[in-house]
Amino acid sequence: MLQQLGTALNAHRLLRVHTHGLIALDQESPNTTTAQEKGYERQTKRGSATRSWEGSARRQRTPRGSRSAGAASRIRGNVLRAAYEGQVTSLAEAYPTLQTFPDDDGLWLLARSSIIPGLAREAIFLVALPYSPGLGPRAWAFWAAADADPKWIGPRHTNFQDGSICAFSPNDGAWAEGGDLRTLLDLYSVWTLRHLYLDCFGRWPGKQYGLFGVDPRVAAFYRRIECEDDELCGCGSETRRYANCCKPADLQLDFGQSAALFLDQIEGGFASRVPPPAVVAFMEGLSGIPPIADVHIQIKSA
Ligand SMILES: [Zn+2]
Repeated sequence: MLQQLGTALNAHRLLRVHTHGLIALDQESPNTTTAQEKGYERQTKRGSATRSWEGSARRQRTPRGSRSAGAASRIRGNVLRAAYEGQVTSLAEAYPTLQTFPDDDGLWLLARSSIIPGLAREAIFLVALPYSPGLGPRAWAFWAAADADPKWIGPRHTNFQDGSICAFSPNDGAWAEGGDLRTLLDLYSVWTLRHLYLDCFGRWPGKQYGLFGVDPRVAAFYRRIECEDDELCGCGSETRRYANCCKPADLQLDFGQSAALFLDQIEGGFASRVPPPAVVAFMEGLSGIPPIADVHIQIKSA
């Protein structure tokens, strides 16, 4: 079944996400269309491309301006609060283990997802949802297994600096701030399915993006480290495998020089893709839930 789902992701077929995050092939609509791609309705969703790093979005923050700008920002924050709080009941129907935790800066979600029937482990998502507009969610995924500490899911397609899930590109229309939280968790479920496939078959299934808004040599270095030959190319190609797409050109670049440029532009490099200690401690039951402000990279760095 996992193999079938991976094949479907490679072919850009629609997947359905059912209650508790169970994923299945969509038998009714075997082919994607542009409308379905954009609409991203629950249970008729396409496996959206995953992406690794929101480069230019990283340090953006709502400017603290005049009093009136502050008031406008607060009103928009109230809009997001209402949008999210109003969805808790419907989200709990889709993900029945849902727990929420209030926070000074937003709302925490904690929910389990079963991914595929019969799987011996479940995924747990911990999601920080800030109310202040422009920050966006930050989420971490862990495998829960009996008699063991939860195991972080990564590092492929997690964000640099905090190892948070990167399940879709902010500009591909899959989900927008204030949008349907079921869709958001469904995207995380499909991202986790890809990780499960990677664990079992050694390659990332489906379309994937690498780094945007960086020096092309940095993007090339990222692909050389991350992409397997038989995965769809990290340039976002829907048809070409890495070996037959960007790899020949990537190999032309000086490895040492590209590595140095990469480290210069990506703070901490690949090793920075680890979850914050406070998130891990919470997941291991060693501490309470951290303040969102302590772990959300854009609040922390503001
Ligand atoms: Zn390519």
